[in-house]
Amino acid sequence: MQEALIAVDVGGTKSAVGIVTREGQVLGRRVEPARVQLGPRAMIDRYVAMALELAEKVTGVRLVAVGVGCGGPLDAGTGVIHSPTNLPGWDDLPLGEILAARLGLPVTVENDANAAALGEWLFGRGRGLRHLVYVTVSTGIGAGLILDGRLYRGRTGNAGEVGHTSVKPHGPRCGCGNRGCLEVMASGTGMARRAGELFARDAGPHGSAGAPPVDAAELLARARAGDPVARMAWDAAMGYLGVGIANLVSVLDPELVILGGGVTRAGAELIDPVRAEVAWRARWFYHPGLIVISDLGDDVGLVGAAAAAEYRLRGMG
Ligand SMILES: [Zn+2]
Repeated sequence: MQEALIAVDVGGTKSAVGIVTREGQVLGRRVEPARVQLGPRAMIDRYVAMALELAEKVTGVRLVAVGVGCGGPLDAGTGVIHSPTNLPGWDDLPLGEILAARLGLPVTVENDANAAALGEWLFGRGRGLRHLVYVTVSTGIGAGLILDGRLYRGRTGNAGEVGHTSVKPHGPRCGCGNRGCLEVMASGTGMARRAGELFARDAGPHGSAGAPPVDAAELLARARAGDPVARMAWDAAMGYLGVGIANLVSVLDPELVILGGGVTRAGAELIDPVRAEVAWRARWFYHPGLIVISDLGDDVGLVGAAAAAEYRLRGMG
């Protein structure tokens, strides 16, 4: 009988649970809006219910482990979640222990950017490489680092926080306390906020239409429609994203950089300016094909969570 994994993608906007083979194939999935206002216990009840439903529906497999991807900060060793900003009430929550007791299987909890990097490395287009960087560009920006054939965690387990590297030394304040973080300048939330400030300053003479954009997708739609202020804001955000990725490339000399997360749906409008920026800023390391957009799409959370469990099963984690 084929062995498979339960994958749990814990998010602030959606909850996803899947059954994934040990080769990374998603056999079944359940996705629903995350109701964070109900608190962690009710959310965990839903993960367990979805997992049990799926286990009944997906037959012919033997479930061997559970992998969880969740926003940090968290302790991957103990499976304890430490107050992520998008999950109110998840304070020092022993998620790994709770799920292990409820599902009767070993549980691995991993930071979602690390999980996505493992997903691309074990099951995606990073298979067989030794040096791989995964960067998620979404409401925040984070990275997972595969270096010398293993996940690099650093001293505190939080390595890869590229979103909080400075790309504009005296720029706007970030939630982390620093100024001009990559996340403030180029995440979906950050760029929409920056654009809102530009719109407020420049509401009219150059043809900008009234209300500020609510997110990156709307900002890009306005830029494509010819709004010069939206175009300027988008291009600036892509420039900063390129700076952040060029810095990573110069430090780490990876074989491949995979970009994922909601903002990468912009496709060529994102990857072309990022490649151009990296090509001149990190010219010793740049080559065509160095930077690509993930093809795991919306499944990256589940495939990543499964990969975190698989990484542990293989004795690597
Ligand atoms: Zn920051």
